[in-house]
Amino acid sequence: MKRVLVTGGSRGIGAAIVDKLKTLEYEVVCPSRQELNLSDAASVKSFIENDNSFDILINNAGINPINALENIPESDWDETNVVNLKSPFLLAQGFAPHMKKNQWGRIINISSIFGIASRAERSVYTSTKAGVNGLTTSLAVELGEYNILVNSICPGYILTDLTKQNNSEEQIAAISQTIPTRRLGKPEEIAEVVAFLISGNNTYITGQHIAVDGGFLCQ
Ligand code: NAP
Repeated sequence: MKRVLVTGGSRGIGAAIVDKLKTLEYEVVCPSRQELNLSDAASVKSFIENDNSFDILINNAGINPINALENIPESDWDETNVVNLKSPFLLAQGFAPHMKKNQWGRIINISSIFGIASRAERSVYTSTKAGVNGLTTSLAVELGEYNILVNSICPGYILTDLTKQNNSEEQIAAISQTIPTRRLGKPEEIAEVVAFLISGNNTYITGQHIAVDGGFLCQ
């Protein structure tokens, strides 16, 4: 049975990915923040030293400090880069030897439409998500010969509990009007794409930044 690590599986998109993969033939490992703290490189390295025999890596966890350029503390820049970009890199680096040995692996980086485009007050987030897309491109090229396929999924606006907490019904209705499909996405709709990309049905898609956004970026 293939082993999958999903980061940030406690809630939101990560929880939907975990729920979906548990219905399929996978051993799903979903560490808590105490077991794997992505803002602390030492925690990531010690997790890898303990267990690096994963066939599939889903780098899902991410943070998104929204702030005007002149108000962003350097500490926010540093922490967001470590959680969103450095830790996914370290996990890929740590798991690649096992995947190479087996001549099979799948890495999915949950990026964002704001890794492709952006909006005001997202300079830190967009920089890290564009970096994640760069990591995907580069690893796809480097690891392709070992049958390790690496893709980014770039969600648009997704209706998670956090989105519901942070936005009133009126605000969610207003966001919906900016999306061609006139609704936000569901976490399960991201999980379906993850399930396809890591399945035996995907044997040739690699290095892609797949927007799952109801057509938002087409405008
Ligand atoms: P969320 O509801 O805010 O959940 C974030 C997850 O990441 C939680 O499980 C959280 O764990 C974990 N996490 C955060 N910092 C961590 C750390 N230092 N160490 C370990 N775990 C940590 O997130 P989401 O909205 O589902 O987003 C998931 C991914 O999709 C992110 O990469 C995000 O950038 C991307 N995305 C989301 C949307 C959207 O509309 N929601 C759109 C585009 C892209 P705890 O429970 O311990 O806090």
